[in-house]
Amino acid sequence: MKKANSRRDFIVDSTKTVIAVATGVVATGSLLESCTGPKKATGSGSYPKTGFIQEPLPYSYGCLVKSIDGTTMEIHYTKHAAAYAANLQDAAKNEGVDTGKPLEDVLARVSKFSTKMRNNGGGHYNHEMFWKSLSPTGGGKPSGKLLTGIESGFNSFDSFKTQFSDAGKNRFGSGWAWLYLDGDKKLKIGSTPNQDNPLMDVSDIKGLPVLGLDVWEHAYYLRYQNKRADYINAWWDVVNWGYIQNRYDSML
Ligand code: MN
Repeated sequence: MKKANSRRDFIVDSTKTVIAVATGVVATGSLLESCTGPKKATGSGSYPKTGFIQEPLPYSYGCLVKSIDGTTMEIHYTKHAAAYAANLQDAAKNEGVDTGKPLEDVLARVSKFSTKMRNNGGGHYNHEMFWKSLSPTGGGKPSGKLLTGIESGFNSFDSFKTQFSDAGKNRFGSGWAWLYLDGDKKLKIGSTPNQDNPLMDVSDIKGLPVLGLDVWEHAYYLRYQNKRADYINAWWDVVNWGYIQNRYDSML
C-alpha cells in the first residue's frame, strides 16, 4: 500500500474537497481511497469493446501526480474527453447510429460518416482506452506474451520504448502514438493525427490498438509546457501493463 495518499497528506474540507498538501494538486471526490489504481482487469478473453458514454475515471485526478498533475487530469477528463463523448452522442443521434452496439463498429467504417463522427468517435474511443491504460501503481515493464511479442518485434523492451517515444515526439501537431497489432498479428508502432486511430478505415496504419499515448498539448502543457519529450518520459511510469497485457492476450 502506498503511503503517498495516506490521510495525513491531505486536508479534507466540509465539501469533501481533498487537497494534496505536498503537491498542491486539488482534486475532488474519492481521492482518499482510490490511489491504488484500478483492479487488474480479469481478462474476459475477448477484445474489450467501447460504448458511447464516458466511463468513470478508474482513479482520482491527483493519483497520477508522479507523471501527470491532477489539474491537467481533471480538465482533460471533465472538459476535453467529456466533450468528445457528448459530441459523439450528438453525431450518433443525427446519423442514425445504434449506440447499443460497440463504437468499434462505427470506427471501422467511419469514412461513411461525418467529420464530427470521426473526430469525436476517435476522441471518445482513444480517451476511454487511455484512462484505463494508466494506473497510480503503473510503470515498469510487461511480462508474459506481451513482453515476448515486444522483444521479438523490437529487439528489446528498451528499444521498443525508444521507438514508441519517438513516434509520439515526432507526431507533428496533435495526435497519438500507438502500439497496435496489424492484420498479420504483428506488433507495430505508429502514430495518427488528431483523434484518428488504427481501427479507422481512413487511417494510414490499421490494426487493433494495444497501447495509445495522447500527445495533444492538452494532455501535458500545464506541467511540461512545450516539453513533450519530458511528458512522454514521465508517462512510462504510470502505464498499467496489467491492463495492456490483457488487451493484447485477448487479440491473439
Ligand atoms: Mn486528450
